[in-house]
Amino acid sequence: MSVVITEQKQHGHMQPRDLARNPMIVYWEMTQACGLACRHCRAEAMLQKHPRELNYTESCALLQQIRAFGDPLPHLILTGGDPLRRPDLYELIDEAVSLGIEVSITPAATQNLTREVIETLRAHRIQSLGLSLDGSNARSHEAVRGVPGCFDWTMNAARYAAELDMPIQVNTLVAAETADDLPAIFDLLLTQRVMRWSLFFLIGVGRGRMLEPVSPERGEDIMRWSLNLARAAPFAMKTTEAPSYRRIALEEMRAHNMPPEAIRSSSVYRGFGIRDGNGIVFVSNTGDICPAGFLPLALGNVRDNPLPEMYRDEPTFRALHDANTFKGKCGECEYRVICGGSRARAFAATGDPLESDPFCPFQPERNKHELFQ
Ligand code: SF4
Repeated sequence: MSVVITEQKQHGHMQPRDLARNPMIVYWEMTQACGLACRHCRAEAMLQKHPRELNYTESCALLQQIRAFGDPLPHLILTGGDPLRRPDLYELIDEAVSLGIEVSITPAATQNLTREVIETLRAHRIQSLGLSLDGSNARSHEAVRGVPGCFDWTMNAARYAAELDMPIQVNTLVAAETADDLPAIFDLLLTQRVMRWSLFFLIGVGRGRMLEPVSPERGEDIMRWSLNLARAAPFAMKTTEAPSYRRIALEEMRAHNMPPEAIRSSSVYRGFGIRDGNGIVFVSNTGDICPAGFLPLALGNVRDNPLPEMYRDEPTFRALHDANTFKGKCGECEYRVICGGSRARAFAATGDPLESDPFCPFQPERNKHELFQ
């Protein structure tokens, strides 16, 4: 069973997207090279690039593969490491844009992320900038990141982006080390121009193993708190690697007797069904194709396997598209199609991406039908 979502495109008409065929987002880790060495880095970034990093020609071939998905095209997010460390960054952005692909970027907040760089990114038609903020002040942010000075670099980048009318998404790690600071981070973001705040619930991969996740119960409290804030926040709010946010949102909407059409027009509804490997696909700096950045299971390589074929037909991807293949609690859950659990966390905990997400405390009613198809 695949999920088809309908999107409003810029020129006005509604366009269906079958998530089993056309992902919503391709994350491309352009390089592992990065001047920072953050304590929870998924990529375990290095100062130098990997010797087998995709070169310019191979990178252009990858962009052609993304174009080959056809309409509706996925959005491309350039990530790393630090994408600014790619000497051919702007040529590759231009190439993607010329193919009709919308591109966003998540640069590392270093001294190199200057006003001029953001202006250049804007000129090359980058749609939005992702910035990581894990603390409400220099002490708390840098305690998590382990890099002195990076709080100011981040806040400077947010200010430059606002001045240049570049939308920003702020990504915040949710872990035992950051949970108490979340309200203060929210207050800080109210003073900035932010398009979206994404709460990323820690997965123990890469250097993330060095931090402590919050308990499932605390996670539920944080998600309910976030949903309450989202009603009045001047920016959109979402979670990453915590799709049970959708279950909680749906429970709350039903508790408030929200009619189905109002539920369907809510922002959380637009994320229904999207999860690691279903709506999301990740390409590593060496071309490995994985269901997500936090699910480091290489199912092919773009040097040998065209990305659309892999995403649509590779057996693990096919299983990830179909929530009825999930095991344990997630496989029995009535929310499995809209939520389905974090496949990355299931993989980190068990080595099997189809297993149950151990972060969710919900007890499904056995064999109850999916609630929201
Ligand atoms: S049991 Fe799994 S599918 Fe059900 S709400 Fe929890 S994480 Fe989602």
